[in-house]
Amino acid sequence: MKSFKTESKKILDLMINSIYTHKEIFLRELISNCSDAIDKLYYKSLTDNLSDISRGDFHIDIKVDKEKRTITVSDNGIGMTKDELENNLGVIAKSGSQDFKANNEKNDDVNIIGQFGVGFYSAFMVADKVEVYSKAFGSDEANVWTSNGAEGYDIKPCEKADRGTEIVLHLKKDTDDDKFSKFLEEYEIRSLVKKYSDYIRYPIKMDVTKYKELTEEERKEGKQAESYKEETTLNSMIPIWKKNKNEVTKEEYDSFYKDNFFDYDDPLKYITIDTEGAVSYKALLYIPSRVPYDYYSKNYEKGLKLYTDGVLITDKCAELLPDYFSFVKGLVDSELTLNISRETIQQSRQISLIESNIEKKIKKELLDMQKNDRETYDKFFKNFGLQLKYGLYSGWGMNKDVLQDLIMFKSVKLGKYVTLKEYVDGFGAEQKYIYYGTAKTESAVKALPQSEKILDLGYDILCFADDVDEFAVKMLGKYEEKEFKNILDEDIGVSEADEKKNEDEKELLGAINEALGGKVSKVKISSVLKSHPVCLSSEGDVSIEMEKVLSQMPGAENGMAAKANKVLEINADHPIYAKIKAAYEADKESVKTYADVLYQTARLVAGLPVEDATALTDELFGLLAK
Ligand code: ADP
Ligand code: MG
Repeated sequence: MKSFKTESKKILDLMINSIYTHKEIFLRELISNCSDAIDKLYYKSLTDNLSDISRGDFHIDIKVDKEKRTITVSDNGIGMTKDELENNLGVIAKSGSQDFKANNEKNDDVNIIGQFGVGFYSAFMVADKVEVYSKAFGSDEANVWTSNGAEGYDIKPCEKADRGTEIVLHLKKDTDDDKFSKFLEEYEIRSLVKKYSDYIRYPIKMDVTKYKELTEEERKEGKQAESYKEETTLNSMIPIWKKNKNEVTKEEYDSFYKDNFFDYDDPLKYITIDTEGAVSYKALLYIPSRVPYDYYSKNYEKGLKLYTDGVLITDKCAELLPDYFSFVKGLVDSELTLNISRETIQQSRQISLIESNIEKKIKKELLDMQKNDRETYDKFFKNFGLQLKYGLYSGWGMNKDVLQDLIMFKSVKLGKYVTLKEYVDGFGAEQKYIYYGTAKTESAVKALPQSEKILDLGYDILCFADDVDEFAVKMLGKYEEKEFKNILDEDIGVSEADEKKNEDEKELLGAINEALGGKVSKVKISSVLKSHPVCLSSEGDVSIEMEKVLSQMPGAENGMAAKANKVLEINADHPIYAKIKAAYEADKESVKTYADVLYQTARLVAGLPVEDATALTDELFGLLAK
């Protein structure tokens, strides 16, 4: 007897002691393994030109034995050698099971069993003993793997006539909560296959009880119909994406998604594509309704399942999706040239044709949603808008035709998301720029000293809440010929700089600038401030917000990151200005303290750290005490 590896044991224990209510999924898992095993052999027959294997020969069989309380699921797929039995069933190998493990580390909820393809081990939810008889393709010897879950497993040579795998489940005894016997009922098996495995591309066969038709006479005599068994295919075999979309309900599309893409919520939207032309393909795509837990991390792998003519070629074909739509899940089934190997997929011209086609379709669907179902689009954007903005930025604006109409920002005036189009359509008569402020919320943007004047003029301001926002619109350059303008820019184009006033105040402004010793590039009388005393703006390409973001980047510590050219703007109409002026005239030295207080508080308002909090506090209380 060999012991299971530790991770396997964890999952096994969970299965054996499971109180999960949908134990029925074990059948789905076993059948999908059969189907995978047949896919593997079929794929091999195509790439290796095995002419003695034909697709029509494949099948999956289910048998139940009420006396022995067994369910047997078998296939004539690729089978497993002794080593494969050991390696594939002795450890948690793959996909579904791996995801399950990763997620289960933090979460004990039994409901998560339903969220993932938990695979082969799910058999132990219903069986206390499992036997796996297998004969690998091209091999003469067969082996049987036996386990009762807990302790470990055995592998021994056995007799098996045909290629493939046969799995025998010895059902657990019924308990008050769990009637395992129900799985021995024909009707139960039939409905489970329909429910979970209808689209399996190979026939799933079982002997089904049928009744001989009675003649009119026999019926009159009250004769009971005679029953007989007939081998019947239980599944419709047509994969959901090959069905006419009018024949498939939203519920069916949604449950296909949940069963195949490790999500327990319905998708936000499904998209079907059926294209004939330069390349013919069908696609079934989904936009998830929530962000996958690893989505914004580098572990996330984008990609669509790729089938050719119903056979799975690869589970995640990354080349089918542009990065900015990496959240899309789904599959593509195309009649690609079948002798392609997995490695050459990347180079395939057909793949890139399909990709650009899919990209267009997703864009169109998203724009439709934006227009006709705004609430859903808002939800979508909350989840994946960041990725679209990254897409603008990282493509150096190359993707702007695809993305510029999909992105949105919160409007300070309206308190909700608006598109750039909507913003521009709402332009004030004299408005020159698309104004934005960088802060976490619309109300924080509104509170920026510079906002007052712009809002007074009736112009709206977009809230740039994410670090990437300003970088992304820099890549856009303009939208409908309108330039973007950070409201913290020195010249926001709402009023002429008051040259005369600046000239009049030249001496004091110069003294403040000198006192700041190069921390700002300019000190001026503001033409934008209304009720606030002071603010920081910037001139040139790097804004204050960009400086913040850049200073957080790796390598920024050594002072290499670009810095904003800061301008200290003072409101000459604010009472504090008269105070400073009077103080300056009485004592030229006093300007130093005032200059520092103005500058440090302006930094605070702009969301920059105060350079020396203690010094500022001392200065402030010193002034208050006077
Ligand atoms: P997954 O299907 O996600 O790989 P499973 O736990 O369902 O994980 O199965 C583990 C492995 O056991 C499979 O990857 C496959 O190699 C092997 N296996 C299971 N069932 C069969 C089968 N009927 N025929 C051949 N191999 C199988
Ligand atoms: Mg599996």
